[in-house]
Amino acid sequence: MTRGIWILGDQLSHQQAALQSCFIEKENTPIIIIESSDYVNKRPYHRQKLVLIWSAMRHFSEELKLAGWPVTYGITAHFLPSLEKWIKDNYLTELWIMNPNNRDFNNLINELSTLVQIKLIPNNQFFWTQEEFTKWAKNRKRLLLEDFYRESRKRFQILMVDNKPVGNNWNFDKENRKSPPKNINPPDNLSFIPDDITTDVIKWIKLNDFGSYGKLETFNWGVTRDNAVTVLNHFIKKKLPQFGPFQDAMVTGKNTLWHSLISPYLNLSLLQPQEVVEAVEKAYFENQLELNSVEGFIRQTLGWREYLYGIYHYLDEDYSNSNWFNHSLKLPDFYWDSNKTNMNCLHQVLKQIEDTGYVHHIQRLMILSNFALILGVNPQVIEAWFHAVFIDAYDWVMQTNVIGMGQFADGGILASKPYAASANYINKMSDYCSNCYYNKKERTGEKACPFNYFYWDFLARHQDKLKSQGRMNLILASLNKIPETELNKIRELAEKWRLNEL
Ligand SMILES: Cc1cc2nc3c(=O)[nH]c(=O)nc-3n(C[C@H](O)[C@H](O)[C@H](O)COP(=O)(O)OP(=O)(O)OC[C@H]3O[C@@H](n4cnc5c(N)ncnc54)[C@H](O)[C@@H]3O)c2cc1C
Ligand code: SF4
Repeated sequence: MTRGIWILGDQLSHQQAALQSCFIEKENTPIIIIESSDYVNKRPYHRQKLVLIWSAMRHFSEELKLAGWPVTYGITAHFLPSLEKWIKDNYLTELWIMNPNNRDFNNLINELSTLVQIKLIPNNQFFWTQEEFTKWAKNRKRLLLEDFYRESRKRFQILMVDNKPVGNNWNFDKENRKSPPKNINPPDNLSFIPDDITTDVIKWIKLNDFGSYGKLETFNWGVTRDNAVTVLNHFIKKKLPQFGPFQDAMVTGKNTLWHSLISPYLNLSLLQPQEVVEAVEKAYFENQLELNSVEGFIRQTLGWREYLYGIYHYLDEDYSNSNWFNHSLKLPDFYWDSNKTNMNCLHQVLKQIEDTGYVHHIQRLMILSNFALILGVNPQVIEAWFHAVFIDAYDWVMQTNVIGMGQFADGGILASKPYAASANYINKMSDYCSNCYYNKKERTGEKACPFNYFYWDFLARHQDKLKSQGRMNLILASLNKIPETELNKIRELAEKWRLNEL
């Protein structure tokens, strides 16, 4: 038997399972890593995401060569011919691949199995394996994050003492929803100057016009494991101590606040979730950090990230087509160009994505996804947009976050109520409304904030369905107090906006 390993672009770790399994025979195990232009031309991408992935792949290939692996780095149109040639040249009888995180490689792997015997190695990029998640999930009435998170804390003994949660409480969310004060002063982010490899990738992308969205010149993300570890250490030292209180805040010009910015690295496997969680836990015990900050962060990584990955693989492929509200509208054009809207919250957030490919969780959920939801955009359309513009977007994390959490298109498998909100919430958690053309307080009238009339229009349109969601009763009671004449004005404004903008 002669085996070789194909490493996918989001499996860039020396610890990845296929590499580990062949480590003692590394000099005799050919490796291939491939950049495929057909793959990236299938859908729109942020140009910086392509730089990040291709530069990280090229750096990783160099690291593997230095470590003694015989590596072939392919730059090609389609994966298949490159793989076929490499398999023949190396007389391979077996191709080892670590199980992909995303389903979109399944068809290709099936095609490959007609050329060579495929061995899929269980994926080791998460705390939970898919089999373990299935065992936990089946026979449960509800797949609640809270249950999964507590089980994870116990199973991996994170922030536990004598099998009890540190601080005798599983959740400190109440302390983590503070409005931003004036003169908030978060630490700076790290910035990485492109080296020769990254500069070559940037030139390559420009030359071939790959990617169709976002600025290229402002690229300053890390591209190696060393860079990623530096970002993690910077986060633990400078940001983690205050991560919690302003986790949900949004501030103009200080957009990343105390967020870690590690998702691009975790999702490429330049960082492992285990090392991140362990480093954060160690910092807590050694430096007596505030528990609300540390627990808040661990809930995101050990809780949400693992839970959504588990759900993606546990539920049928059809989950991605869910559309509980039967929403069918297209996306407003300004989602692709921040200058085309005078809604300040959307303008600020969209502008930051154009510049960097990143905004934090609440900006994604309560501005971008919220507006699409209350407007009535088709969930698959908004999901495709999220996939196109974010630096850290992959099917496994996108479908569950956008279809499930953001759009409530699964009818409540993931969330217990839709994340829909008016300007009230945005004004409480940000400084955006004070510089906006629209009036945050009005829901009818010429300058009424679109978030306001779309919010009430959304509730009115779907109240029959929403009645089945217990947590909506209070808000539906408020809806029913709005006089019919005012509700009609709200409906008219919503319709007029849709006619003008879509
Ligand atoms: C509509 C929507 C779309 C999203 N799209 C993506 C995406 O494409 N890729 C992505 O990695 N995350 C996505 N998220 C989750 C989350 O917003 C990002 O992981 C986070 O903002 C990344 O920034 P950070 O590293 O600074 O995170 P921090 O706030 O510092 O959190 C730490 C880590 O926790 C993990 N995490 C936190 N929340 C989630 C979550 N809901 N799902 C998965 N991991 C989580 C991430 O790995 C993150 O790096 C999305 C959330 C929503 C609501
Ligand atoms: S007033 Fe409305 S549109 Fe303007 S920033 Fe506030 S929420 Fe956004």
